[in-house]
Amino acid sequence: MPVDYIAEAKNKSTPEPAVTPCSVQIDLYLDPLLEEPPVQSTADKSTWQSYQRLVEQARTACAGCPLLVDCLYKAVVQTDISGYVGCTTPKERAKIRRRLGIKVETEDLDAAAGARGTRRPVDHDDVLRARAAYPDDSLETLATRLGCSLSTVKRHLRRARNDDAPSARKTSAPTVEDVLDAFGQVVDRRRTRSA
Ligand code: SF4
Repeated sequence: MPVDYIAEAKNKSTPEPAVTPCSVQIDLYLDPLLEEPPVQSTADKSTWQSYQRLVEQARTACAGCPLLVDCLYKAVVQTDISGYVGCTTPKERAKIRRRLGIKVETEDLDAAAGARGTRRPVDHDDVLRARAAYPDDSLETLATRLGCSLSTVKRHLRRARNDDAPSARKTSAPTVEDVLDAFGQVVDRRRTRSA
């Protein structure tokens, strides 16, 4: 079963637009140590301890985020971005995916575009909704509205144009409950609760 704050987050109403901790604590989420986690076996003690402190801070911040469930789901199932996202490190997300038996695309450009001020991944539907709502916007303006890279907008619109989104991927995608269960199994409960 997932940890308690996941259940709480699912029951929260999500005001629009939501203020997310990662859009406020930008320095924390974009810290180089969180962006590119050190390897424990090779990192010196002080670097590893600093990394762990940052993870605990980010974990606490994400745990209070109204978008946590949505963010976690997208970061696990839809887009593989770098850094600390949806209460998980990249390694934890990789473990969750292995449990779910899925692979996702890497979103290097979005990861690099940390200046957008949020870690929340932008998904296919987000881009199509924005395109429909602002049909006269340039692609650059749409990217700014969404807080993602121009290449991300282009990629999603190209996918929609080609109409080649594999339906099999959609029908076999794990449910939110699947992801939350895997999250609960992977993330150390004691560490989470003590953060
Ligand atoms: S990374 Fe996701 S869960 Fe964490 S604060 Fe940002 S939007 Fe919320």
